[in-house]
Amino acid sequence: MAIVSTLKRKAEEDLNSEEPKSKKIRASFGPTPEIPVGILWDSVNYSCSYDSLFTILCEIWIYNPKSWTKTFYSFGNQGKILSEGYKKVIRGLETLENVRNDVHESLKQENSDLFPYGQTGTDIRDLISYIFTSHHNISLGYRRLTCNICDFFQDLDNPPERVMSILDGTYKSINEWLQQWLMEPSICDCGSPMATSRIYDQPPSLLVFSLNTSRVSISKTIRIKGSNGKFTVLPLRGIIYSGGFHFTSRIITPGKEVWYHDGMVTRRNCIKKGHLTDFTGDSLKICIEKNSSGELVERQAVVAIYSKK
Ligand SMILES: [Zn+2]
Repeated sequence: MAIVSTLKRKAEEDLNSEEPKSKKIRASFGPTPEIPVGILWDSVNYSCSYDSLFTILCEIWIYNPKSWTKTFYSFGNQGKILSEGYKKVIRGLETLENVRNDVHESLKQENSDLFPYGQTGTDIRDLISYIFTSHHNISLGYRRLTCNICDFFQDLDNPPERVMSILDGTYKSINEWLQQWLMEPSICDCGSPMATSRIYDQPPSLLVFSLNTSRVSISKTIRIKGSNGKFTVLPLRGIIYSGGFHFTSRIITPGKEVWYHDGMVTRRNCIKKGHLTDFTGDSLKICIEKNSSGELVERQAVVAIYSKK
């Protein structure tokens, strides 16, 4: 009897549920789910840093709104505004530009020097470090100095973050830099090799790199060793380019298609540029595209974003 009534209740729940029956129907910001949607540039309050970042974040969020809403909430105020805004956009109640404006407004209220209105613009590095640095002292993991010979360990300040800045040009690629950053070798007083390791408590679902050197190539995937010793592999999902006082972006879909967006030129459209296999880690560092006057402009990669699907 109990089983029958449980089954009956389950059937009634299914009927009342508004969830789509087929998982193949996924949420979409535009008419075609497979095509990323771009954000239109605002000529009054220069918005290209926001447009380039949020166009990439849209494409990440839309593949799993429920899971990403939870993750975006952990980013703080702006993550909440983005997720709640995106939910309205997929129901046709809001535009991506208005969601961007709401985030900009909240950032300006919190720090009007970094996030001003008008034609000053916002530095993309300020935007990503503000949005992705864990606020409210929520720790994402720990940084620990260990010598296995002495059985010595010490936890240090500056635990791992979601956003990292690459200053050094001696590493060949982002992933190579990351491996060194996750496990920095040194020598203990006892003379044995020791290491400072950065360990994330949970496998990170999104990591952002600020590139302050043009020498490292853009890895197509990065690997992070978790506290359980297992590796998490995060694929490249977006690159932001800077040049000519403007930011543009390349968006990489889970199917590894590469799209280009410039809120001034391609406007709400993203333009397909091929498959990720058509690019090398070095060719991804540069983006040569026409500006609004039709002149070719070479821009350098300044941000790379990796995330799970
Ligand atoms: Zn030692």
